[in-house]
Amino acid sequence: MILTRVRCARVLQLTLAIIKPDAVAHPLILEALHQKILENSFIIVRRKDLIWRRSDSERFYAEHKGRFFYQRLVEFMSSGPMRAYILAREDAITHWRELMGPTKVYRARYTSPRTIRAQYGLTDTRNTTHGSDSPESAEREIAFFFPEFSVQHWLEMEEPCFRAGH
Ligand code: UDP
Repeated sequence: MILTRVRCARVLQLTLAIIKPDAVAHPLILEALHQKILENSFIIVRRKDLIWRRSDSERFYAEHKGRFFYQRLVEFMSSGPMRAYILAREDAITHWRELMGPTKVYRARYTSPRTIRAQYGLTDTRNTTHGSDSPESAEREIAFFFPEFSVQHWLEMEEPCFRAGH
């Protein structure tokens, strides 16, 4: 799957973003994060509210199996509703990860206090958000959450500038 296309002279990249259960549990934080997405010129390509079974959580985080935080992470991510987005913009992967800030909340608070995790994160595990870390993981994670999604179909049928031929 090719993840970049030109949109009105912009090169779009897709990423998978999750608002994790700790943030979805607080309507004001959920709304603030949704606004953050819009303020940063992301196109919301798809959006889905869902609850994971434990087995979904284990599959998604399989690469972390055996690490000290794995059980805690798997438990947390299947503990309640979350929201997943496919987002598009220039440098979507890097931009969303910069907005999130460092994985560890205490580090985020010291080094990047304006980031999402610094502002809203509770612990290193309950750190509000996820974002794909490479084009390969974006492709895999988009397929995990949105197996019915076709980037080609989206570009041809829904993406306005592409459709308009710009
Ligand atoms: N995590 C944790 N403790 C750690 C490191 C990671 O609980 O010491 C959790 C945290 O929720 C993190 C997720 O595991 O978001 C995935 O870790 P990764 O290293 O992939 O960080 P991310 O890409 O989310 O910043």
